[in-house]
Amino acid sequence: MKRLDGKVALVTGAGSMKGGMGNGKATAIRLAQEGAVICALDLTIEAAEDTCDVIRSESGTAFALAADVTEETQIHNAITACLTHFGQIDILQNNVGILRTGGAANTTIEDWDLLAHVNLKAVFLPTKHILPHFIERQTGVITNVSSIAGLRYLGTPYIAYNTTKGAIISYTRNLAAEQAQNGIRANSILPGFIDTPMARNLTEQNSDDVAKIDWEALDRQRSARIPLGRVGTPWDVANAAVFLASNEASYITGTEITVDGGVSCSV
Ligand code: NAP
Repeated sequence: MKRLDGKVALVTGAGSMKGGMGNGKATAIRLAQEGAVICALDLTIEAAEDTCDVIRSESGTAFALAADVTEETQIHNAITACLTHFGQIDILQNNVGILRTGGAANTTIEDWDLLAHVNLKAVFLPTKHILPHFIERQTGVITNVSSIAGLRYLGTPYIAYNTTKGAIISYTRNLAAEQAQNGIRANSILPGFIDTPMARNLTEQNSDDVAKIDWEALDRQRSARIPLGRVGTPWDVANAAVFLASNEASYITGTEITVDGGVSCSV
């Protein structure tokens, strides 16, 4: 028996920029490796299919869905399609999140609104539309991907992003308290510095000359700030997601798992 045999998981942001490995993609793959059947949702069907191909190549079962997590009708339809396909959903992994640079004085109202719009709806809408199903079955697991940046300033001004990630922690605690009576658990994962396409893309955006970025030097520099001595991988985040989705976490709700190599206890 695998840890998630018989479970169906819906993972949002399950694709990854430029075909790389993001937190959502790694989570979908790891959940499948533990026996879950996967609904992989991303903005484009190509990105979602890419993840499904990896899962199928490892003999897993996966169904690709294209939807924007900020669009209520699309999310409602995606959940309905997943239910029609597999008959149930047991696990919802809300992974979508976007980032913009900026501090309190120079963040534009457009960026502020955009991050609130995407990052908060990314947890609110899939949860809202899956809850009737979870409540009917009196069971379900919801894991929201926040960030350690939701708790503290990490040296670079990302005030809009950090504020939304803090709000996700609060939202998740409220959700957990409200829905525990229905057998539903909700927790947040707080990743630290994780090497994903999104993180690399940000470095490229902030660079004057992308060709001159010394990725190895950057990795050494970042690793030096991390007590465990290395930048995290999407698999580190995915393993926490597997644990929270499994019965091993059946008494864990309304809390956070930090996946940061010890950064939070040292800065
Ligand atoms: P990623 O590589 O960009 O993967 C996220 C996926 O979500 C992409 O395929 C993206 O599609 C998709 N997406 C974006 N907006 C969407 C929308 N509105 N609807 C549906 N799908 C959408 O990101 P990641 O670095 O793995 O990050 C995943 C999560 O981890 C985020 O919540 C992020 O805040 C969090 N996190 C990351 C780090 C880190 O260091 N990487 C640290 C802490 C927390 P496109 O590529 O087409 O945009």
